[in-house]
Amino acid sequence: MRTKIVIIGSGPAGLLLGTLLTRAGIDNIILDRVSKDYILHRVRAGVLEEGTVGLIDKAGAGRRMHAEGLAHEGFSLAFGGQNHRIDLHALTGKRVMIYGQTELTSDLMTVREAAGSTTIYDTINVKPHGFDRSSPYVTYEKDGTTHRIDCDYIAGCDGYHGVSRKSVPQDAIRTFERVYPFGWLGVLAEVHPVRDELIYASHERGFALCSMRSLTRSRYYVQCPLDDRIEDWSDDRFWDELRRRLPVEDAQALITGPSFEKSIAPLRSFVAEPMRFGRLFLVGDAAHIVPPTGAKGLNLAASDVHYLFEGLREYYLEKSPTGLDAYSGKALARVWKAVRFSWWMTTMLHRFPETDAFSQRIQEAELDYLIQSSAASASLSENYVGLPY
Ligand SMILES: Cc1cc2nc3c(=O)[nH]c(=O)nc-3n(C[C@H](O)[C@H](O)[C@H](O)COP(=O)(O)OP(=O)(O)OC[C@H]3O[C@@H](n4cnc5c(N)ncnc54)[C@H](O)[C@@H]3O)c2cc1C
Repeated sequence: MRTKIVIIGSGPAGLLLGTLLTRAGIDNIILDRVSKDYILHRVRAGVLEEGTVGLIDKAGAGRRMHAEGLAHEGFSLAFGGQNHRIDLHALTGKRVMIYGQTELTSDLMTVREAAGSTTIYDTINVKPHGFDRSSPYVTYEKDGTTHRIDCDYIAGCDGYHGVSRKSVPQDAIRTFERVYPFGWLGVLAEVHPVRDELIYASHERGFALCSMRSLTRSRYYVQCPLDDRIEDWSDDRFWDELRRRLPVEDAQALITGPSFEKSIAPLRSFVAEPMRFGRLFLVGDAAHIVPPTGAKGLNLAASDVHYLFEGLREYYLEKSPTGLDAYSGKALARVWKAVRFSWWMTTMLHRFPETDAFSQRIQEAELDYLIQSSAASASLSENYVGLPY
């Protein structure tokens, strides 16, 4: 088999890249190690920047997102028992879109299938080869047979645990990491969200986030110790803990119900440099991870896709390698700013085991400054809605 681009991974990065390439007439094949159904049930991100929304539109997959997604113009910072609204739209002229990763993935798969592009699920032992030479290829096993796809380029969109980054020689890659000493316990429930907008709550018992996927589906999180076990968190215990961390008006308004998804996610910042190795490009979580506090993970995957797609489009349609040569530098410059923002939001809103009285006062002063100073609120908003590509 031969194609122009083999994309490893059918998450948001791989699907968005593949769909954009197909629309531009550039052949591609996507390989994933899990089933389509498994991917469609992987509950993750939900806040989309305008740049991400624009790319989804460009891929022809935005119709349902615009009909069912919720455009938000602000969010609430809750501390000291009160809510303080950050008016994103007044401060930046931009909004964010609330639309679940599962829905987005489903829309992209539908467009891809309608265009007749190939995605191969349930593959085993996917391996990129020869990307340091001019003739790369990818091998994989399926139904007991080994297959080979020859290509021009390989896009490693296979997430943090994928094979692409691991295939790069150790001495060619540099990694940076910060592991946070807590996790997020997340719950999904078919209940009306406590507010129309998100609440980011800083409380002495720890951080909490009231988020949503739709007007009838809420996504709530509380900061928890890393060694907590899901079995120890009954729904009742979760709702009680969430109420304690919210201002009284929200605690009283909170509608609870049985959770249908509950998980604990560790928080980590991670960056691999560079993001190109010959004819292999790393894209999205394969190259970087951010703690979800700034709602940046999926959005960073989308901005990488923007730079890589433009580079590939230029290469095939204008015969110029300039965009591809600039990919790693451009993508990393934006990645590091989002890594900084996500680290800053995490540091400002969570309780760390080592938080002493001094650090506590600094956190409080920072939050107070943020809501008193329009320059500080504008800086927060500019980063939250997403820096320009
Ligand atoms: C529990 C959780 C909660 C999250 N919550 C948020 C949030 O609230 N907000 C936010 O912005 N971000 C969140 N994120 C991050 C966000 O979901 C990711 O940044 C986003 O999914 C990145 O997309 P991706 O396509 O780069 O990688 P992934 O979504 O990880 O997709 C990678 C794909 O590659 C496939 N793959 C992996 N290895 C191989 C292999 N060897 N061979 C073939 N295929 C392979 C995987 O099956 C997968 O389909 C969360 C992540 C997790 C894990």
